Amino acid sequence: SKKTVVITGASSGLGLQAAKSLAQQGWQVIMACRDFQKAEKAAKEVGMDPENYQVIHCDLASKQSVRNFVQTFRTMYNSLDALVCNAAVYFPNTHKEGVILPGLFPGGGPRWSAEGHEMSFAANYLGHFLLCKLLLEDLKKSSFSAPRCVILGTVTATVNGAGLGGMIPPLAHVGNFEGLEKGMKAPVTMLDGGAFDGAKAYKDSKVCDVMLMKELHKRYHKETGIVFTSLYPGCIAETNLFREHYPLFQNLFPAFHKTVTKAYVSQEEAGQRLAACVADERYGTSGSYYSWEGEAGTGGGGGREAVQNTEKDLDWFMNYGSFRTLSIDEIGGEAADDQRCSKLWELSEKLVA
Ligand code: NDP
Repeated sequence: SKKTVVITGASSGLGLQAAKSLAQQGWQVIMACRDFQKAEKAAKEVGMDPENYQVIHCDLASKQSVRNFVQTFRTMYNSLDALVCNAAVYFPNTHKEGVILPGLFPGGGPRWSAEGHEMSFAANYLGHFLLCKLLLEDLKKSSFSAPRCVILGTVTATVNGAGLGGMIPPLAHVGNFEGLEKGMKAPVTMLDGGAFDGAKAYKDSKVCDVMLMKELHKRYHKETGIVFTSLYPGCIAETNLFREHYPLFQNLFPAFHKTVTKAYVSQEEAGQRLAACVADERYGTSGSYYSWEGEAGTGGGGGREAVQNTEKDLDWFMNYGSFRTLSIDEIGGEAADDQRCSKLWELSEKLVA
């Protein structure tokens, strides 16, 4: 029978492209999406065969919705071979009202999940925490020798000291989880208990995602054989993630990453990288953080000189590009702190109880 993979946020961008790639490789893809119609339409648009995928509703910003998703999944499937925690929202500059030009900054302040948590924290991290906890049971039943759980990180979560993106303010800072200790409900919006900043909330949520991967590895890898990994797929400058950024930014962002940081990657290639983390045996070391940068063949990343290579090949990148594997002990920034990773786990358990 076919291998099964659940991908959150598969209605757009990276998740959609990874879904397409895995479906083509013979996987049964369960698209866990908040907008059913959008997901169906997107799957058709990229040419996915209805035989190879199924959309099941899941809104990560609601505990009940995550629980319902898992229940529905279990009525249809007896086990799970891979889980991809990909969905995310990003609300840049929501703390600033339009200044200089009307609409330049969206303003509006924090947005709230069903349980009253700040939305980036709730959707990008907490919903995935609950989903991982619940689906562990289904991953354990996989007949695959090493089922996988892949969680999206990002360069701005400063896990990789070599990544330029981690130095652009506002910097991620989860502190000692002062805000989380208070329950992460209004008026608290930020994990460190500080003032609301939408861009920072996104980065903080991704630090938590990497911490979650580490903690899952520590708690469950030996006992279950499940492989837990994280990745940075490169800068996919054209996805909907940047939909709320101001237009000038949206127009310049892809060119900036093509020429200056050289981290630009197409949605399709990024999707193949994520699919490789799910299906390729070379990305099967639990606790690893796989960090790509620009497109294969462009020599992208770190100011490296362009290298002539017409073949877009993941192998090439593993050997010559700015690809890096960080082992669990090499993961940097706040996610390096094991005590804080455990603290995050314990406080998260309280929130989803
Ligand atoms: P997109 O905005 O294109 O895709 C995000 C997906 O998440 C969409 O399918 C969206 O659904 C879904 N989503 C958002 N909120 C929820 C929710 N509450 N419940 C369920 N699904 C939800 O962004 P990308 O493809 O760029 O991002 C995918 C991942 O890649 C993210 O984890 C991001 O942090 C990571 N990443 C992206 C980079 C980039 O350069 N783009 C760089 C580094 C990491 P809907 O379609 O309904 O809006």
